[in-house]
Amino acid sequence: MVVVLKPNVSIEKRNDLIRQIESMGVKVQITQGTETSILGLIGDTTNLNKYAIASNEIVANILRVQEPFKKANKMFKPDDTIIEVAGRKIGEGHFCVMTGPCSVESEDQIEGIAKAVKENGATFLRGGAYKPRSSPYAFQGLGLEGLEYLKHARERTGLPIVSEIMSVDMVDRFAEDVDIIQVGARNMQNFVLLKELGKIRKPILLKRGLAATIEEWLMSAEYILSEGNEQVILCERGIRTFETFTRNTLDISAIPAIKKLSHLPVIIDPSHATGKAWMVETMSKAAVVAGADGVIIEVHNDPSRALCDGQQSITPEQFQHLMIKLRKLIEIEGKRLER
Ligand code: PEP
Ligand code: MN
Repeated sequence: MVVVLKPNVSIEKRNDLIRQIESMGVKVQITQGTETSILGLIGDTTNLNKYAIASNEIVANILRVQEPFKKANKMFKPDDTIIEVAGRKIGEGHFCVMTGPCSVESEDQIEGIAKAVKENGATFLRGGAYKPRSSPYAFQGLGLEGLEYLKHARERTGLPIVSEIMSVDMVDRFAEDVDIIQVGARNMQNFVLLKELGKIRKPILLKRGLAATIEEWLMSAEYILSEGNEQVILCERGIRTFETFTRNTLDISAIPAIKKLSHLPVIIDPSHATGKAWMVETMSKAAVVAGADGVIIEVHNDPSRALCDGQQSITPEQFQHLMIKLRKLIEIEGKRLER
């Protein structure tokens, strides 16, 4: 339930109303607009005395929120969330490009790629240190060593880093070392991990689960938000369908859907969505036009020898070409490429 207040009410009257509502057993989240404020009610509102609230002189309107996600809901917070990371903005009007290899393979590799993508307009450097591989026999990532190489690459280039966390025991370490903590598709419903990430104050890049509905995805975001961490970036990375031509099926319509339902920024991963390097440019362009707030793209110096996801990785030269096209579209959309 959302309680919309009349314009310019006094803080005292607003606080009285909040106390009155909270005494009925629900929590109140205030969203302050330029003139009006919105009170978002979290908890079981079924037995709430709505007439008592509606009759308060400062209340303009009461709206029922049908969806189970509250803090992630646009009704609770009509203004889009903008997340700032090391001076770069993510969300409304700002476009970000996260790019780098699927996994960190060596110090030289990550530094070489970081330098190349920085020159061509990347906003963030991505790189997996811990890899959720389908096979236990496949390369699992360099772990802590990989994180150290990522940090060196950040020092050398100034690019903030994005990396995937796989377990709760690494939360403190990631909070310390990484600028944006990625939760992979396979962990989207690891609720224990999500709750722990809700307790820190670092931006979380939450990928959509392999077969998750939009509502399930937003409920996962709600787990993080409900613990107090308001910095969640959503990432559409393709979902599993009957189609086998592509690795997954990019749900481009998830972008306008999220924009309608939520205030959270949402980006697209054309690499994992298609599994094909030659499709990455087209789908990145589609992402800009669909209204995404950014893309996350796998770039590898030598895709044919990559230890992970080489078939979907583009080269730094292809990235350069892609960025020339993307810049034009970002401008047409009236957005700013963050760097
Ligand atoms: C990745 O970003 O390398 C990755 C494993 O992605 P996803 O979780 O979307 O499969
Ligand atoms: Mn990958």
